[in-house]
Amino acid sequence: MLRIEDLRAGVGSKEILRGINLEVRSGEVHAIMGPNGSGKSTLSHVLMGKPGYEVLGGSVFLDDTDLLALPAWKRAQAGLFLVSQYPIEVPGVSLEEALEAAFETSGRNATGLHEEILREAASLRFPISLLGRSLNVDFSGGEKKRNEMVQLAVLRPKFGILDEIDSGLDVDALRDVSRRVEQASNEDQLGVLAITHYSRLLKELRPDRVHVLVRGEIAATGGPDLAAQLETTGYAEYGVAEDDKEIVGASIFGL
Ligand code: ADP
Ligand code: MG
Repeated sequence: MLRIEDLRAGVGSKEILRGINLEVRSGEVHAIMGPNGSGKSTLSHVLMGKPGYEVLGGSVFLDDTDLLALPAWKRAQAGLFLVSQYPIEVPGVSLEEALEAAFETSGRNATGLHEEILREAASLRFPISLLGRSLNVDFSGGEKKRNEMVQLAVLRPKFGILDEIDSGLDVDALRDVSRRVEQASNEDQLGVLAITHYSRLLKELRPDRVHVLVRGEIAATGGPDLAAQLETTGYAEYGVAEDDKEIVGASIFGL
């Protein structure tokens, strides 16, 4: 279980997360929706331990592990995996080399890794020809997201944070990725925090719970119907301007 209690964090003197409380159990998919600039990516970065953010209070536990006390790589070893909104390019390192290193560092047996990568790449329709290239370098937005999903599928973390995984993915790719996430949540009890701006992701990846993040706070929590409601009403009732409503509305047309 991922347990976030009263998490407050910011950059410099600016407080961005203003008291987040959230519990996601193994095998559950929770969605975090919210307008631009509400703190969604900041939450993903602070959970993963990206340098540059200051934690001002609260706690984050993955099972019994106090994540905030650990550097990012140890959080990864503890079972946390982040698909970031903008996956970074790593020149000179292939996907297989990165995964090999991850297996070695955590003392896991990497036998059969190559075949496993090929299998997962095929199921996610990630072009095999890209496997030999440097990680994410010159990949399209969609290829980067699929590439990150191959890593998640092979690594089998306890918990995945998917930050705007829908950006750059067409409808077919969105379905591939959603099916693979659902399979992991059913078979491996993967817990998932799926961050998204648009409700179209949540038509494919059915969440157990939906949380609305506004100005660094969770303003509402509900079932999948909350995402459907946001599609028609936008974030206006949370005091967010009309242009954000249009962005949510645009998702109906898959824009
Ligand atoms: P979202 O992902 O919901 O669109 P972000 O978490 O990216 O929002 O950003 C939330 C707010 O925090 C924005 O106002 C953004 O400008 C600010 N912010 C995020 N990261 C930084 C940073 N490293 N330095 C300064 N401000 C930041
Ligand atoms: Mg973001």
